[in-house]
Amino acid sequence: MQNQSQSGPYDLIIVGAGTAGSIIAAHLAEDGVRARDGEPLKIALLEAGPYLKGKLNPGHGVPSRRSRFTNVSHNESGRWVWPWPEAAKMVGGCTMHWGNNGYLPYEMDYIHWMDESGVDWSQDKFKDSVQEIVDEFNIGDVPEEMWSPGNRLFKKTVESMGYQPRYVPTGRKNCIYCGLCGRGNFCRYDSKPNVLGYVWRAEQAGIELIPEVEVERVIIEPKGEKGIARGVVLKQQDGTVRELRAEKVLVSCGAYGTPILLGRSGYGPREQLGDKTLVHNPNVGNNLEIQPGTDVWAEYDIDLKRERGAGNYGHYFWPEFPSDGNNVVGIRDTIMSFPTYPQVAAVRSLAPRFGQAHKDYMRTAVRRVAGIRSSILTPLVKGSINVITGATSYPYTDPRNVKRLHWSAEIMREIHRKMGAKKIEQHDPPSFGGGHPTGTCRAGSDPKESVVNPHFESHDVENLLICDGSVVPRACLAHKCVPVSIISAFAARRIMADHYTRA
Ligand SMILES: Cc1cc2nc3c(=O)[nH]c(=O)nc-3n(C[C@H](O)[C@H](O)[C@H](O)COP(=O)(O)OP(=O)(O)OC[C@H]3O[C@@H](n4cnc5c(N)ncnc54)[C@H](O)[C@@H]3O)c2cc1C
Repeated sequence: MQNQSQSGPYDLIIVGAGTAGSIIAAHLAEDGVRARDGEPLKIALLEAGPYLKGKLNPGHGVPSRRSRFTNVSHNESGRWVWPWPEAAKMVGGCTMHWGNNGYLPYEMDYIHWMDESGVDWSQDKFKDSVQEIVDEFNIGDVPEEMWSPGNRLFKKTVESMGYQPRYVPTGRKNCIYCGLCGRGNFCRYDSKPNVLGYVWRAEQAGIELIPEVEVERVIIEPKGEKGIARGVVLKQQDGTVRELRAEKVLVSCGAYGTPILLGRSGYGPREQLGDKTLVHNPNVGNNLEIQPGTDVWAEYDIDLKRERGAGNYGHYFWPEFPSDGNNVVGIRDTIMSFPTYPQVAAVRSLAPRFGQAHKDYMRTAVRRVAGIRSSILTPLVKGSINVITGATSYPYTDPRNVKRLHWSAEIMREIHRKMGAKKIEQHDPPSFGGGHPTGTCRAGSDPKESVVNPHFESHDVENLLICDGSVVPRACLAHKCVPVSIISAFAARRIMADHYTRA
């Protein structure tokens, strides 16, 4: 290896200062000690993206953040994203850009997690972690005054159809409700929750945060049938390659980043790794769950949106709830909460193609054109990610998905009709995509079915811990940021008790 220099050793290296990595780092830095002698831990937190440094200052921000960003959407931020979908590359990870739909896990989610893979993650055991994240992100309701006319009309309409809509829980601190947070934008005033508060605490407690270094591989040495983690190899921006040694390594690179890093380290399915296999586990990169979804858009005669909007929120409901909680579809009016971007309105099939008619439409379309969205929250269909190429494979067109999305599209058209839409888009079959990946290194009690045990320890590699979206055993009934954060707060408690408390 060229340019190699060594530093350390550390007690723990955490790879990825995103959602999970930052939460766990703060806990361990503040309260963890070396089990053998009670000394403070020497921890390095490594992150491939940059750090917009500064104490969290809700309502004001700090100069480094205010000056670098102006409500830039996550996929517009150039080099600060990964090539895979929905993945911010910076200290704070996806919480720097998430849509702030802050759903807590439902009782059924804990049941699903336990049934799916045998983890002992009962709702009762998560109480403290839930409370921690609710407080940290200040999760609650948006004041009714902020609802857009479209949000109000949607609620009234779906109630008249016999459904029971609820307002999407959100987190905000010292927020002036400018509404510009939109979908996946960055709040330069720190009013939208992110994990930089945890990062700050970790730094105050002595952690060594090293941004802008991409970890190329975890150093895994053979140990009998299994492996043992010894540290990491990373690449700095100037191309220098360094080796850092540690007693333990925690990988928190996200649902796509983690299996890819493990694959590069020789840990994954033999069918993909071939003679580069150090440790075989077919579950690395497998069991990928996303939320397949579709939108139905319509044009109205009336203004549905406030001048700026209420952010990325609105109401949601489940048209039906099967008793096993599988294949549940959520329908929501998020796209009625904030103005439609002109470039989005212009290319919808609702828009006249050319000339004066197009100009007339565009004059007011941003406030009259709106969508309703459905997602399959707990799909039965799973995909995978190739740990070498990073290519994801998800059977979107599996009949179980298609049938469900057709059914939800009909309901959404009916809502638009009842809301008085002038023109409703027809897609048959509906177009669909999906985000919120989880499950690619899932936790479970059976090593044949999972990658880590319920205590976040690799089944196959000693001294290797994993926690982030990849460990979630079963897709939740809602979006993933808050569940991943809660699982991370829970993981921090477990890891501390298991490894970093005076013996
Ligand atoms: C635009 C957008 C909107 C979203 N909206 C919502 C929403 O409204 N509600 C909701 O609940 N969820 C939402 N999510 C999803 C949610 O934010 C994520 O599911 C969650 O934050 C994932 O946390 P994580 O710890 O798994 O990964 P991340 O937060 O992505 O952290 C992974 C970190 O690891 C780093 N990393 C990866 N590989 C390496 C490497 N080799 N070396 C060094 N560092 C590495 C990454 O740069 C990143 O910082 C949204 C996500 C995005 C991007």
